[in-house]
Amino acid sequence: MHIHDFIRRMPKVELHVHLEGSIQPATLLHLAERNHVSLPAQTVEDLRTWYQFSDFNHFIEVYLAICSCIRSADDLELIATEFIKDRAAQNIRYSEVIYTPFTHLPHIPLDDQLSAINQARQKGFAKYGVRISMAPDISREMRPIEDSQMIARWAIKNRDNGISSLGLGGPEVDNPPELFTETFKIAREAGFPATPHAGETMGPVSIWGAIRSLNAVRIGHGVRCLEDASLVEYLKKTQIPLEVCPSSNVCLKVVPSLAEHPLPRLLEAGLFVTINSDDPPMFNTDLTQEYLRITDQFNFSVTQIKQFVFNAIQVSLQSEAEKQVLKKEFTDQFDILQK
Ligand SMILES: [Zn+2]
Repeated sequence: MHIHDFIRRMPKVELHVHLEGSIQPATLLHLAERNHVSLPAQTVEDLRTWYQFSDFNHFIEVYLAICSCIRSADDLELIATEFIKDRAAQNIRYSEVIYTPFTHLPHIPLDDQLSAINQARQKGFAKYGVRISMAPDISREMRPIEDSQMIARWAIKNRDNGISSLGLGGPEVDNPPELFTETFKIAREAGFPATPHAGETMGPVSIWGAIRSLNAVRIGHGVRCLEDASLVEYLKKTQIPLEVCPSSNVCLKVVPSLAEHPLPRLLEAGLFVTINSDDPPMFNTDLTQEYLRITDQFNFSVTQIKQFVFNAIQVSLQSEAEKQVLKKEFTDQFDILQK
């Protein structure tokens, strides 16, 4: 079997993908219309043009405009349902899904948000056998900081109700992780995992902050760690995983091109890497495409691709028993595909 076919059909796990950033353009137009929100683009094609990112600030602007189209629990259930359907189409058996509850709070109470998402989760599992769990994130621009602590407490309270970690997202520049030390201390004291973004638009200092002040169990992106040899050494020693999102890095100009992406250097340095799609339609990609693109660009073998997939299982936040089940299922499916 050609490696492309192998990648398309293989079972997958994704650990860094945003619910709001996964809304397909057609669905976004539908939501904008039913909620009377005016977007700067009125067709799928124009939306794709609007998604061409000049910089991270434009990306945040687009992201907030997308969020403004979500006005009800039904909207959240719809996007979660479509998200899970897409997971099934890509054979992504398990995903940890970032979403930003505070953004929707003016229109939808937190518990109603989660109920809507959980409806979709349960139906999606019944229909496709696909599982997702949620990683609510805090925007780095959130003030007062007490609001972020409210989100942290709510996430922890729902740890057995579909929530698996606490994230941190939004503009890294001018918003260092240390601002949220107290917020993530609440999580740490409850033994609840932190999965912040860091080392994307800011360099090593932001990654160090995520590790030291937020107790990060994984780093969202982290690709800029290579700028600090002592950090690389630390990440190698601790094997704190990086959630690498190649096309996102190219679109947001973290790297000039896929050819110049540091992925091979991260592997050479002995770091723990997983592959992810971040905000797939916004970056004109999906997880399958990410695997295809890096394979074509860097000549990865089937063995390396399988390693990325097993890496994602290993550092997911499922129970050990769930990981073992998935590992067995994936091993069997890989064997069949390689026959
Ligand atoms: Zn992200």
